[in-house]
Amino acid sequence: MTEIVAIPAFADNYIWLAVDRNRRLAAVVDPGDAEPVEAALRASGLRLSAILITHHHHDHTGGVEELLAAHPVPVYGPADESVPGVSQPLREPDAFEVPGLGLPLRVLDVPGHTAGHIALVADGALFSGDALFAGGCGRLFEGTPEQMYASLGKLAALPEDTRVYCGHEYTLANLRFAHQVEPDNPNLTQRLRRAEAARQRGEPTVPSRMADEHATNPFLRTHLPAVRTAAERWSGQTLDEPVAVFAALRRWKDQS
Ligand code: ZN
Ligand code: FE
Repeated sequence: MTEIVAIPAFADNYIWLAVDRNRRLAAVVDPGDAEPVEAALRASGLRLSAILITHHHHDHTGGVEELLAAHPVPVYGPADESVPGVSQPLREPDAFEVPGLGLPLRVLDVPGHTAGHIALVADGALFSGDALFAGGCGRLFEGTPEQMYASLGKLAALPEDTRVYCGHEYTLANLRFAHQVEPDNPNLTQRLRRAEAARQRGEPTVPSRMADEHATNPFLRTHLPAVRTAAERWSGQTLDEPVAVFAALRRWKDQS
């Protein structure tokens, strides 16, 4: 049984630890900083078995070399990005078992935020990095709207009960933007209230459930008339295709 634990880092990053308590082993996803990972391993008496990377940004990779120096473990990461320390380059449709944990993962290419961004999919769990966030999606630093739209489509096709383990606690800002897009979506209003309450208690809002993303994340809802109408009103243009709605939503969010 793999348990997944959040390690908060920096202002709003989450480093994820996939833990097998019986074997006292853990794999870490996107360690932007080594120190909080070492602290978490020490506190629970765990040994590191692998490092997993979704994309090259420093807030997801900055701790790799320091961790590697202390723990000589395999490092899985995107084949098409340059991440120091990666020993096991991955691309879709690769699949592998996380060493020690016996946790099967498969790889999806999800370009858009970065050009070689990958997502890691387990049974019932998705490590989405900065591609899909709770209530939103990553900025398009290296990719086109068309690429990101296709990437999000792959992730949205995962089962409704999939837990989404994303790279940042951006949920409140995302849901407030979503509420501007869809002020009349009752599921969204409810989710925003729940997220506000969780943050007031100092609790993470993630992982989310894919069902909640389908119901409230505007970037997965670009085919719906209400979302299209809002994006058309904001952009002052007719948006015939969901991908055009997506591109307008992304620009709207970037400017808000
Ligand atoms: Zn990033
Ligand atoms: Fe990030």
